[in-house]
Amino acid sequence: MWLCVSILGTYFKMRFSEIIGQEKAKGFFRRVISEDRIPHAYLFTGIAGVGKTSTAIALTMALNCRRPTDIEACGVCPPCRQMAGGNFPDFISIKPDGQNIKIEQIREVNRRLSFAPVSARYRVCVIQQAEAMTREAANSFLKTLEEPPPGNILVLNAVEPLNLLPTIVSRCQRVPFQPLPVEAMIEWLVRVKEMDRERATIVGRASGGSLGLALRMSEDVFWEKRDVWISRILKLPSLSKGDALTMAMESATKEKGRGSDDAEPIEPGLPEMLALWGGWYRDLLIVKVGAPKHLMTNIDFRDQLNDVAQYVTIENLTASLVAVDQAVRDLRRMGNPQLVMGHTILGLQRLYSNET
Ligand SMILES: [Zn+2]
Repeated sequence: MWLCVSILGTYFKMRFSEIIGQEKAKGFFRRVISEDRIPHAYLFTGIAGVGKTSTAIALTMALNCRRPTDIEACGVCPPCRQMAGGNFPDFISIKPDGQNIKIEQIREVNRRLSFAPVSARYRVCVIQQAEAMTREAANSFLKTLEEPPPGNILVLNAVEPLNLLPTIVSRCQRVPFQPLPVEAMIEWLVRVKEMDRERATIVGRASGGSLGLALRMSEDVFWEKRDVWISRILKLPSLSKGDALTMAMESATKEKGRGSDDAEPIEPGLPEMLALWGGWYRDLLIVKVGAPKHLMTNIDFRDQLNDVAQYVTIENLTASLVAVDQAVRDLRRMGNPQLVMGHTILGLQRLYSNET
Protein backbone atom coordinates (compact mmCIF):
# COMPACT_ATOMS: atom_id res chain seq x y z
CA MET A 1 0.00 0.00 0.00
CA TRP A 2 2.87 2.34 0.74
CA LEU A 3 4.96 0.94 -1.99
CA CYS A 4 4.04 2.57 -5.22
CA VAL A 5 5.42 1.19 -8.44
CA SER A 6 4.84 3.74 -11.08
CA ILE A 7 6.19 4.90 -14.36
CA LEU A 8 5.81 8.48 -15.37
CA GLY A 9 4.82 7.64 -18.90
CA THR A 10 2.57 10.54 -19.71
CA TYR A 11 5.02 13.38 -19.56
CA PHE A 12 8.40 11.79 -19.52
CA LYS A 13 10.22 10.01 -22.26
CA MET A 14 12.13 6.91 -21.31
CA ARG A 15 15.35 6.69 -23.23
CA PHE A 16 18.44 8.81 -22.73
CA SER A 17 18.14 10.28 -26.24
CA GLU A 18 14.65 11.51 -25.43
CA ILE A 19 15.69 13.48 -22.37
CA ILE A 20 16.16 17.19 -23.09
CA GLY A 21 19.57 18.59 -22.09
CA GLN A 22 21.39 17.19 -19.03
CA GLU A 23 24.43 16.34 -21.14
CA LYS A 24 26.69 16.07 -18.09
CA ALA A 25 24.45 13.49 -16.44
CA LYS A 26 24.19 11.55 -19.71
CA GLY A 27 27.97 11.72 -20.16
CA PHE A 28 28.46 10.40 -16.66
CA PHE A 29 26.22 7.39 -17.30
CA ARG A 30 27.78 6.77 -20.69
CA ARG A 31 31.16 6.53 -18.97
CA VAL A 32 30.21 4.32 -16.02
CA ILE A 33 28.10 1.97 -18.15
CA SER A 34 30.77 1.59 -20.85
CA GLU A 35 33.42 0.94 -18.22
CA ASP A 36 31.05 -1.35 -16.31
CA ARG A 37 31.72 0.53 -13.08
CA ILE A 38 28.18 1.27 -12.07
CA PRO A 39 27.80 2.88 -8.65
CA HIS A 40 24.95 1.35 -6.67
CA ALA A 41 23.62 4.53 -5.01
CA TYR A 42 22.96 7.92 -6.59
CA LEU A 43 21.75 11.26 -5.42
CA PHE A 44 20.09 13.15 -8.28
CA THR A 45 19.81 16.83 -7.36
CA GLY A 46 17.95 19.65 -9.10
CA ILE A 47 14.55 21.33 -9.24
CA ALA A 48 11.52 19.19 -10.06
CA GLY A 49 10.70 18.52 -13.67
CA VAL A 50 14.18 18.63 -15.21
CA GLY A 51 14.55 14.92 -15.93
CA LYS A 52 15.68 13.20 -12.72
CA THR A 53 13.00 10.51 -12.79
CA SER A 54 13.25 10.21 -16.57
CA THR A 55 16.96 9.57 -16.18
CA ALA A 56 16.29 6.89 -13.56
CA ILE A 57 13.89 5.27 -16.03
CA ALA A 58 16.39 5.60 -18.89
CA LEU A 59 19.07 4.08 -16.67
CA THR A 60 16.81 1.15 -15.76
CA MET A 61 16.11 0.57 -19.45
CA ALA A 62 19.74 0.88 -20.51
CA LEU A 63 20.89 -1.57 -17.85
CA ASN A 64 18.23 -4.16 -18.57
CA CYS A 65 17.82 -3.85 -22.33
CA ARG A 66 18.86 -6.98 -24.24
CA ARG A 67 20.11 -5.05 -27.29
CA PRO A 68 21.33 -1.64 -26.16
CA THR A 69 23.41 0.65 -28.36
CA ASP A 70 25.83 2.62 -26.23
CA ILE A 71 23.50 3.74 -23.38
CA GLU A 72 20.43 3.78 -25.58
CA ALA A 73 17.90 1.04 -24.89
CA CYS A 74 16.41 -0.64 -27.99
CA GLY A 75 12.83 0.09 -26.93
CA VAL A 76 11.46 -3.19 -28.35
CA CYS A 77 12.91 -6.09 -26.34
CA PRO A 78 10.74 -7.53 -23.53
CA PRO A 79 12.29 -5.54 -20.63
CA CYS A 80 12.11 -2.32 -22.71
CA ARG A 81 8.48 -2.93 -23.58
CA GLN A 82 7.64 -3.70 -19.95
CA MET A 83 9.27 -0.45 -18.85
CA ALA A 84 7.48 1.54 -21.53
CA GLY A 85 4.18 -0.05 -20.52
CA GLY A 86 4.74 0.71 -16.84
CA ASN A 87 4.76 -2.93 -15.76
CA PHE A 88 8.42 -3.73 -15.28
CA PRO A 89 8.42 -5.57 -11.95
CA ASP A 90 11.89 -4.40 -10.92
CA PHE A 91 11.38 -0.66 -11.07
CA ILE A 92 10.29 0.67 -7.70
CA SER A 93 9.32 4.27 -7.05
CA ILE A 94 8.64 5.60 -3.55
CA LYS A 95 7.09 8.98 -2.85
CA PRO A 96 6.00 10.76 0.32
CA ASP A 97 2.91 9.40 2.00
CA GLY A 98 1.40 12.78 2.87
CA GLN A 99 4.15 15.16 3.98
CA ASN A 100 6.82 12.57 4.70
CA ILE A 101 8.43 9.36 3.62
CA LYS A 102 7.85 7.32 6.73
CA ILE A 103 9.98 4.66 8.35
CA GLU A 104 7.37 2.00 7.47
CA GLN A 105 7.82 2.83 3.79
CA ILE A 106 11.59 2.47 4.04
CA ARG A 107 11.30 -0.78 6.02
CA GLU A 108 9.11 -2.11 3.22
CA VAL A 109 11.72 -1.07 0.65
CA ASN A 110 14.47 -2.73 2.70
CA ARG A 111 12.41 -5.89 2.91
CA ARG A 112 11.66 -5.90 -0.79
CA LEU A 113 15.25 -5.32 -1.76
CA SER A 114 16.34 -8.27 0.37
CA PHE A 115 14.72 -10.58 -2.21
CA ALA A 116 16.37 -11.12 -5.56
CA PRO A 117 14.98 -9.04 -8.46
CA VAL A 118 12.00 -10.68 -10.18
CA SER A 119 13.51 -10.79 -13.65
CA ALA A 120 15.92 -7.88 -14.03
CA ARG A 121 19.67 -7.82 -14.19
CA TYR A 122 19.43 -4.58 -12.21
CA ARG A 123 16.48 -3.58 -10.12
CA VAL A 124 16.21 0.19 -9.69
CA CYS A 125 14.57 1.80 -6.70
CA VAL A 126 13.85 5.54 -6.85
CA ILE A 127 13.12 7.54 -3.72
CA GLN A 128 11.21 10.62 -4.90
CA GLN A 129 11.64 13.78 -2.83
CA ALA A 130 14.19 12.05 -0.63
CA GLU A 131 14.38 15.13 1.60
CA ALA A 132 10.90 14.17 2.80
CA MET A 133 12.31 11.11 4.60
CA THR A 134 11.85 11.43 8.35
CA ARG A 135 15.05 11.15 10.35
CA GLU A 136 14.05 7.62 11.40
CA ALA A 137 13.31 6.66 7.80
CA ALA A 138 16.66 8.08 6.66
CA ASN A 139 18.54 6.24 9.40
CA SER A 140 16.76 3.04 8.56
CA PHE A 141 17.90 3.45 4.95
CA LEU A 142 21.60 4.04 5.72
CA LYS A 143 22.71 0.45 5.77
CA THR A 144 20.87 -0.40 2.54
CA LEU A 145 22.38 2.66 0.93
CA GLU A 146 25.89 1.71 1.97
CA GLU A 147 25.61 -1.84 0.80
CA PRO A 148 22.51 -2.63 -1.24
CA PRO A 149 21.88 -6.32 -1.84
CA PRO A 150 23.48 -7.37 -5.17
CA GLY A 151 21.56 -6.41 -8.31
CA ASN A 152 20.00 -3.31 -6.81
CA ILE A 153 20.56 0.31 -7.71
CA LEU A 154 19.23 3.09 -5.53
CA VAL A 155 18.39 6.55 -6.80
CA LEU A 156 17.51 9.37 -4.43
CA ASN A 157 15.88 12.43 -5.99
CA ALA A 158 16.17 15.71 -4.12
CA VAL A 159 16.14 19.41 -4.87
CA GLU A 160 19.13 20.30 -2.73
CA PRO A 161 21.55 17.97 -0.90
CA LEU A 162 21.55 20.40 2.03
CA ASN A 163 18.13 19.14 3.01
CA LEU A 164 19.40 15.60 3.52
CA LEU A 165 21.38 14.00 6.34
CA PRO A 166 25.11 14.23 5.56
CA THR A 167 25.39 10.50 6.20
CA ILE A 168 22.91 9.91 3.34
CA VAL A 169 24.68 12.30 0.96
CA SER A 170 28.11 10.81 1.62
CA ARG A 171 26.92 7.33 0.67
CA CYS A 172 25.67 8.39 -2.76
CA GLN A 173 27.26 9.28 -6.05
CA ARG A 174 25.97 12.77 -6.68
CA VAL A 175 24.56 13.60 -10.13
CA PRO A 176 23.47 17.25 -10.50
CA PHE A 177 20.67 18.22 -12.91
CA GLN A 178 20.44 21.75 -14.30
CA PRO A 179 17.34 23.78 -15.14
CA LEU A 180 16.64 23.22 -18.84
CA PRO A 181 17.54 25.83 -21.45
CA VAL A 182 14.29 27.71 -21.99
CA GLU A 183 14.55 28.09 -25.77
CA ALA A 184 15.22 24.34 -26.22
CA MET A 185 12.20 23.62 -24.08
CA ILE A 186 9.97 25.95 -26.11
CA GLU A 187 11.11 24.26 -29.33
CA TRP A 188 10.40 20.85 -27.81
CA LEU A 189 6.90 21.90 -26.72
CA VAL A 190 6.14 23.17 -30.22
CA ARG A 191 7.65 20.19 -32.04
CA VAL A 192 6.77 17.23 -29.81
CA LYS A 193 3.66 18.48 -28.03
CA GLU A 194 2.45 20.45 -31.06
CA MET A 195 1.79 23.40 -28.83
CA ASP A 196 0.86 26.80 -30.11
CA ARG A 197 4.08 28.88 -30.09
CA GLU A 198 2.69 31.72 -28.00
CA ARG A 199 1.51 29.30 -25.32
CA ALA A 200 4.80 27.36 -25.45
CA THR A 201 6.72 30.62 -25.04
CA ILE A 202 4.64 31.70 -22.06
CA VAL A 203 4.87 28.41 -20.18
CA GLY A 204 8.49 27.77 -21.18
CA ARG A 205 9.65 31.12 -19.85
CA ALA A 206 7.46 30.99 -16.75
CA SER A 207 8.65 27.51 -15.80
CA GLY A 208 12.16 28.47 -14.74
CA GLY A 209 13.65 25.63 -16.75
CA SER A 210 11.38 22.89 -15.41
CA LEU A 211 9.76 20.88 -18.18
CA GLY A 212 7.42 19.26 -15.64
CA LEU A 213 6.17 22.67 -14.61
CA ALA A 214 5.91 23.87 -18.23
CA LEU A 215 3.81 20.82 -19.11
CA ARG A 216 1.49 21.34 -16.17
CA MET A 217 1.17 24.99 -17.10
CA SER A 218 0.24 24.11 -20.65
CA GLU A 219 -2.93 22.28 -19.60
CA ASP A 220 -6.24 24.05 -20.23
CA VAL A 221 -7.04 23.96 -16.53
CA PHE A 222 -3.94 26.07 -15.94
CA TRP A 223 -5.02 28.64 -18.51
CA GLU A 224 -8.33 29.06 -16.76
CA LYS A 225 -6.57 29.56 -13.45
CA ARG A 226 -3.96 31.84 -14.94
CA ASP A 227 -6.54 34.58 -15.50
CA VAL A 228 -7.61 34.31 -11.86
CA TRP A 229 -4.02 34.43 -10.63
CA ILE A 230 -3.15 37.42 -12.79
CA SER A 231 -6.28 39.25 -11.65
CA ARG A 232 -5.17 38.64 -8.05
CA ILE A 233 -1.79 40.16 -8.62
CA LEU A 234 -3.33 43.08 -10.49
CA LYS A 235 -5.68 43.97 -7.67
CA LEU A 236 -3.23 43.34 -4.82
CA PRO A 237 -1.98 46.97 -4.61
CA SER A 238 -5.50 48.29 -4.00
CA LEU A 239 -6.38 45.80 -1.25
CA SER A 240 -6.55 46.54 2.44
CA LYS A 241 -4.36 44.47 4.73
CA GLY A 242 -7.41 42.44 5.78
CA ASP A 243 -8.41 41.71 2.19
CA ALA A 244 -4.83 40.78 1.32
CA LEU A 245 -4.83 38.30 4.17
CA THR A 246 -8.11 36.84 2.92
CA MET A 247 -6.54 36.45 -0.51
CA ALA A 248 -3.56 34.71 1.07
CA MET A 249 -5.74 32.24 2.95
CA GLU A 250 -7.84 31.60 -0.14
CA SER A 251 -4.72 30.94 -2.20
CA ALA A 252 -3.31 28.61 0.45
CA THR A 253 -6.45 26.54 0.84
CA LYS A 254 -7.88 26.52 -2.68
CA GLU A 255 -4.70 26.18 -4.69
CA LYS A 256 -3.74 22.82 -3.29
CA GLY A 257 -2.05 21.61 -6.43
CA ARG A 258 0.03 18.47 -6.27
CA GLY A 259 3.61 17.34 -5.81
CA SER A 260 5.76 17.59 -8.88
CA ASP A 261 7.18 14.15 -9.55
CA ASP A 262 3.79 12.49 -9.57
CA ALA A 263 2.31 10.34 -12.24
CA GLU A 264 -1.33 11.35 -11.95
CA PRO A 265 -2.77 14.38 -13.72
CA ILE A 266 -1.93 17.39 -11.71
CA GLU A 267 -4.16 20.19 -10.64
CA PRO A 268 -2.26 23.46 -10.84
CA GLY A 269 -1.61 24.95 -7.45
CA LEU A 270 0.68 27.23 -5.52
CA PRO A 271 3.94 26.32 -7.31
CA GLU A 272 2.37 27.26 -10.64
CA MET A 273 0.77 30.40 -9.21
CA LEU A 274 4.07 31.54 -7.72
CA ALA A 275 5.94 30.75 -10.93
CA LEU A 276 3.41 32.86 -12.79
CA TRP A 277 3.77 35.73 -10.32
CA GLY A 278 7.56 35.56 -10.58
CA GLY A 279 7.22 35.78 -14.37
CA TRP A 280 4.84 38.71 -13.99
CA TYR A 281 7.27 40.75 -11.88
CA ARG A 282 10.11 39.86 -14.24
CA ASP A 283 8.00 41.13 -17.14
CA LEU A 284 7.34 44.39 -15.31
CA LEU A 285 11.08 44.78 -14.76
CA ILE A 286 11.69 44.18 -18.47
CA VAL A 287 9.19 46.94 -19.33
CA LYS A 288 10.55 49.22 -16.62
CA VAL A 289 14.21 49.02 -17.62
CA GLY A 290 13.39 49.00 -21.33
CA ALA A 291 14.87 45.54 -21.97
CA PRO A 292 13.98 43.85 -25.29
CA LYS A 293 10.30 42.93 -25.30
CA HIS A 294 10.93 39.51 -26.80
CA LEU A 295 12.25 38.46 -23.36
CA MET A 296 8.79 38.91 -21.85
CA THR A 297 6.87 35.85 -20.60
CA ASN A 298 3.25 36.99 -20.47
CA ILE A 299 3.21 38.39 -23.96
CA ASP A 300 -0.58 38.19 -24.18
CA PHE A 301 -0.86 40.67 -21.27
CA ARG A 302 1.56 43.24 -22.64
CA ASP A 303 -0.95 46.11 -22.48
CA GLN A 304 -1.70 45.55 -18.78
CA LEU A 305 2.03 45.17 -18.07
CA ASN A 306 2.74 48.48 -19.77
CA ASP A 307 0.04 50.17 -17.66
CA VAL A 308 1.19 48.71 -14.35
CA ALA A 309 4.85 49.46 -15.05
CA GLN A 310 4.08 53.17 -14.95
CA TYR A 311 3.35 53.23 -11.25
CA VAL A 312 5.83 50.70 -9.78
CA THR A 313 9.49 51.18 -8.94
CA ILE A 314 12.39 48.98 -9.91
CA GLU A 315 13.25 48.55 -6.22
CA ASN A 316 9.77 47.25 -5.40
CA LEU A 317 9.80 44.90 -8.37
CA THR A 318 13.14 43.48 -7.36
CA ALA A 319 11.92 43.03 -3.78
CA SER A 320 8.76 41.33 -5.11
CA LEU A 321 10.80 38.88 -7.15
CA VAL A 322 12.89 38.04 -4.09
CA ALA A 323 9.71 37.56 -2.02
CA VAL A 324 8.18 35.19 -4.58
CA ASP A 325 11.41 33.24 -4.88
CA GLN A 326 11.60 32.95 -1.10
CA ALA A 327 7.98 31.73 -1.01
CA VAL A 328 8.79 28.95 -3.47
CA ARG A 329 11.66 27.79 -1.28
CA ASP A 330 9.74 28.14 2.00
CA LEU A 331 6.83 26.18 0.59
CA ARG A 332 9.16 23.39 -0.39
CA ARG A 333 10.93 23.37 2.95
CA MET A 334 8.16 24.11 5.43
CA GLY A 335 5.11 22.72 3.66
CA ASN A 336 2.87 25.20 5.52
CA PRO A 337 0.99 27.04 2.76
CA GLN A 338 -1.10 29.25 5.08
CA LEU A 339 1.96 30.62 6.82
CA VAL A 340 4.02 31.03 3.66
CA MET A 341 1.26 32.65 1.61
CA GLY A 342 0.21 34.93 4.47
CA HIS A 343 3.75 36.19 4.83
CA THR A 344 4.32 36.50 1.09
CA ILE A 345 1.08 38.21 0.07
CA LEU A 346 1.15 40.65 2.97
CA GLY A 347 4.77 41.43 2.08
CA LEU A 348 3.87 42.03 -1.56
CA GLN A 349 0.84 44.09 -0.63
CA ARG A 350 2.98 46.30 1.65
CA LEU A 351 5.38 46.94 -1.20
CA TYR A 352 2.64 48.42 -3.36
CA SER A 353 0.17 49.90 -0.91
CA ASN A 354 0.04 53.65 -0.46
CA GLU A 355 0.88 53.32 3.22
CA THR A 356 4.60 52.75 2.56
ZN1 LIG B 1 15.67 -3.20 -25.19
